[in-house]
Amino acid sequence: MAAPRVALITGGASGIGLAVAKRLLSQSWNVFIVDRNLTNAASLGQQCPNAVFFEAQVTNYAELADAFDKTYNDVNRIDFVFANAGITDPRTFYDVQPTTPPPPPPLSVIDINLKGVASTIYLAQHYFRLSRQNGVSNYDPSIIVTASIAALMSEPSIPLYTAAKRGLVAFTQTMSGPLFENDGIRLSCLCPGRVRTNMTSQASRNLPDDKFAPIEYVCDAVEDLISPNGMYGRVVKIMPDGIIDVDV
Ligand code: NAD
Repeated sequence: MAAPRVALITGGASGIGLAVAKRLLSQSWNVFIVDRNLTNAASLGQQCPNAVFFEAQVTNYAELADAFDKTYNDVNRIDFVFANAGITDPRTFYDVQPTTPPPPPPLSVIDINLKGVASTIYLAQHYFRLSRQNGVSNYDPSIIVTASIAALMSEPSIPLYTAAKRGLVAFTQTMSGPLFENDGIRLSCLCPGRVRTNMTSQASRNLPDDKFAPIEYVCDAVEDLISPNGMYGRVVKIMPDGIIDVDV
């Protein structure tokens, strides 16, 4: 029997990452979850009894690298990395008051949503190479980054979030070709519209359900993007009415 495939998911303790973790576990994947917040560990353990959890910040390279290392050392391969951890803007540029000096801009959005993903891709490439050297058969490694529909729009209220997420589309455009040609790694990008998660529970709580994409669509898109169909560099919108490939 073939060994189970191995997924490492950042931001997997909640929302989209957790839903994808559950989907993959239901299909007998080995799932390793990296998240900065495991305060709900007992409930997470019940929801995903076969997953392994690491508490780490994607912005702390040593912590993130340690989680990759422990995953690889446990099962000797990593097949899929879901670079999904993200936050929204706590403030916008319009919040700056005429004080001297102004408070620092909320660059944690860039640090987590863009730099954290860059670190995750960098480590994924390294551990994919090790897995291949290790002689894993039928190896078909892939990375998905979670951007946002915001990356495809110009919403002035969330400029840093938009810049970071558009950066992930740019990563996909610039890096998916070389990653596939050099290492057979398929890099793709998800651009969800609104999905009901902790992230949207406050700001969007009064919106009707038809304004939200079902979280199952995100899981369906992930499943499609990691299926061995040879495609890479896809940018996919997840909308209330379905999953749409975007030509960027
Ligand atoms: P969520 O808040 O439910 O989950 C995000 C998870 O990421 C949390 O468990 C959080 O602890 C973790 N996380 C945040 N910063 C981290 C860090 N520095 N290191 C490690 N883990 C960290 O939100 P979600 O909606 O599931 O968001 C997942 C991704 O989807 C994010 O990148 C978000 O920007 C993106 N997204 C969400 C929506 C939406 O409507 N929910 C829409 C578009 C894009």
